Amino acid sequence: MPREPAKSKKKSSHSVAPSFKARLAKLRAALRNRSIEALLITNPNDIHYLTGFHGDDSWFIVTPRRPILISDFRFQEELDEITGVRLLLRAGAIQDAAIDPLSRYDSVGVQAEYLTVATRKTLARFLGARRLKDTTGLVNALRVIKDEFEIKQIKKAVRIQERALLAMLDRVGPGDAERDIAAELEHQMKSLGAEGPSFDSIVAARTNGSKPHYRPSKTKAANNQPLLIDWGAKVGGYCSDMTRTLSFGRWPNPLAEVYTIVLDAQQAAIDAIAPGVCCAAVDAVARDLITKAGYGNEFGHGLGHGIGLDIHENPRLSRYSNDVLQPGMVVTVEPGVYLPGVGGVRIEDDILVTDRGHRKLCSLPNTIQWSTR
Ligand code: ZN
Ligand code: ZN
Repeated sequence: MPREPAKSKKKSSHSVAPSFKARLAKLRAALRNRSIEALLITNPNDIHYLTGFHGDDSWFIVTPRRPILISDFRFQEELDEITGVRLLLRAGAIQDAAIDPLSRYDSVGVQAEYLTVATRKTLARFLGARRLKDTTGLVNALRVIKDEFEIKQIKKAVRIQERALLAMLDRVGPGDAERDIAAELEHQMKSLGAEGPSFDSIVAARTNGSKPHYRPSKTKAANNQPLLIDWGAKVGGYCSDMTRTLSFGRWPNPLAEVYTIVLDAQQAAIDAIAPGVCCAAVDAVARDLITKAGYGNEFGHGLGHGIGLDIHENPRLSRYSNDVLQPGMVVTVEPGVYLPGVGGVRIEDDILVTDRGHRKLCSLPNTIQWSTR
């Protein structure tokens, strides 16, 4: 039937592609404002963001004209797919390859937060110290606002991590060691199409949940004991990040009550997310609720963080943040209460800031009924 192919063709034309041109144009405007002619990009995820290339040991130079990607023969095949850049395949040290193109500009920006002191010295020796200008956060300022393509990648990562958790829960339970549960979860994510986990999964059984950055060990999950799982998937370089706290049977005291408090705090904070709202104010919504319930001192970390090509990005939802929410930001909301010797409860979901408010990107339930297994 002719209608069918026509229909599917129309659908494929709607697939979004990353807009490297638009990203470069915004970066060039920021450089012009600072009277910087060329910017040397040395942070791999910034290079990925601007070109789509994610090999290591590579540098990228943004110039007023065609940008330059310095890499080596190992990435030849990946590099063939990168368009709109001048490729410079180096044989020797990367600094040596960068000197010649950089020497054509009077004002060269470097990424001060990523360049080592030793490399900066080498560049200064060959280019002259006066030519170098330290910059911070120029690409980061662009990366905090996700475009349609990036939101799609994060959504895909969320779907995969959610399906992986459900598949894992069919296979593991009381008696299984934390590290075996973590391995099963990561296996499921890969088999569902993730490049891998977006960070080392946290699987904390019993009282181990009171340690927010716990590493899975041979401790076994048990009946009538909690199991805290903080995990994420990576798709197209983009990270997702969620936490669920489960109990196999009854919740040890007072974790059922704590669960309700943490869930209420999370929901209230999510409800507060909208463009123009200060990140510190969103943190305060959850913190005030948990403090009023008597657990303020047991909520010892910030409420959440941005996610993207890095697992922890700006903005930070914390008491100390001056950031203001804008449409296109994607943040986690993850209040937690940690009781040493008892366990911890953390619930984490990923939220997109929209023009009018927000949209939750996660759909896995988080009620206490669902979490009691
Ligand atoms: Zn997490
Ligand atoms: Zn997180």
